[in-house]
Amino acid sequence: MAFAKAVNVSQFNSSDNTWDAIVVIAASIDAIEDDTLRAAVSSAAQVDGRIASSCNLIITEAAPGKRLIYSPTGALTRYFDDVRRFHDAAQHATNLIIDAGVVSPLLMVYADSDERYSKAAEVAFLAINQTAWQPLEARESLVEDEIEPLTQIGMLNDVDCHWLNAAEAGCRVARDICGTNPERMAPPLLADYCVEALSGSSVKVEVVSSQEQLKSEYPLLFSVARASEQVARHNARVITMTYEGKGEIKHTLYLAGKGVTFDTGGADLKTDGHMAGMSRDKGGAAAVAGFMKMLADLQPEGIKVVAEIGAVRNSIGSEAFVSDEIITSRAGVRVRIGNTDAEGRLVLSDVMTHLLELAENDANAEFFSVATLTGHAARAVGPYTALVENGKARSQNSAHMLSAAGDLWADPAEVSRSRREDFDFVKPRTKADDILSSNNAASAVTARGHQFPMAFLVLASGLDKHDVAYTHVDIAGSGVESGDWQHGKPTAAPVMMLAGRYLN
Ligand SMILES: [Zn+2]
Repeated sequence: MAFAKAVNVSQFNSSDNTWDAIVVIAASIDAIEDDTLRAAVSSAAQVDGRIASSCNLIITEAAPGKRLIYSPTGALTRYFDDVRRFHDAAQHATNLIIDAGVVSPLLMVYADSDERYSKAAEVAFLAINQTAWQPLEARESLVEDEIEPLTQIGMLNDVDCHWLNAAEAGCRVARDICGTNPERMAPPLLADYCVEALSGSSVKVEVVSSQEQLKSEYPLLFSVARASEQVARHNARVITMTYEGKGEIKHTLYLAGKGVTFDTGGADLKTDGHMAGMSRDKGGAAAVAGFMKMLADLQPEGIKVVAEIGAVRNSIGSEAFVSDEIITSRAGVRVRIGNTDAEGRLVLSDVMTHLLELAENDANAEFFSVATLTGHAARAVGPYTALVENGKARSQNSAHMLSAAGDLWADPAEVSRSRREDFDFVKPRTKADDILSSNNAASAVTARGHQFPMAFLVLASGLDKHDVAYTHVDIAGSGVESGDWQHGKPTAAPVMMLAGRYLN
């Protein structure tokens, strides 16, 4: 795992050649507290009008490597400003320093005392690595050190570098899994990647590879996998990862991750150019694996986490499942298939049922499903993660606490309500079935298109029979940069939101 590791540096010295540049991020030149740096930026700003308002490289003897990169955040005090101003400024600086040939920059972030910006330096560090990240296939076919040239980042702010490096290791796993093509990260290889990323750590990884076992134990999941059963390299996997920290357990989390390694839509085939980018339909699985990697590296006390990924390719072929089929879920619920492109909820339901079985003795267990589930989430809340919680989670303020953590870590979410209409929407129309998986229009043009699938998940998994807190996490709008599922860099959402809430 090569990324630019954070290293604490108490003060900088322009002649220390450990570092070959200094990146300064601040709202304005006046906000730069270091006299030498402020003077260098001010004098450059007098001869170059761009410096006050955009990211620039200033050549100065005052900086290590003679390179001072000043990246202004712009205004921070309006109610709608948030820490992503620092993320964006760091992103601009990263593109510039890589072009300039910098490999080991110092980073100094000036954030005012506003609580919103309490993690600004940490966010800037993570943004640098997010921006510098290159896809796994690129690193495997080219020279990794050449295409990801940054080696380390000297943190002049007082931050916990051990924590940050664990966080970045987790985000990197999430980006790697989400951002890979459907052959390189087909289900068996996704399982291999998780085993390798967590090998030798305190996270236990178990993989179910037997198609017969999946057929009997995960019947809904396997209905999605049916058309890939004859293609060994596309065969489904269920990957279970368990971490139990030392000490008294204060949080017990169960995370179900949607790992659809390619979504053709199945028999309800995606058309009109909507198929490109569907290798990213494993972003939820990617995030839960990334969170487990962070746990493996951090080994926090007082928390237990079980994450399970349903890794399945939604292929099309003569064995493909079709609409109108009635398939009994692991929980014994008869599901009428409404549309084969609504496959993620089928994969997640059986995984959630298995997690409920594992959680039987955990009174305070909190459940999450993490998925690129609906175009509606992206339509409704744009680039934010959409959270939909059940009654118990709501009574514990779970989603709002998650969202508050996400706000601090530049991994923001919006909270939606689960309503009676959502349950009505999936109710059975005949006695032949207990529930309908989906309507037959794109979620983006369906009212409550990201809320009603949560009702399906609750009923099909049998979660409604258990007194547990449950929050559904839809990352269809937040999983890749700019909402560009074909080309956008994976964001690793919601790894930092979860980390901010439970590991900070
Ligand atoms: Zn689909």
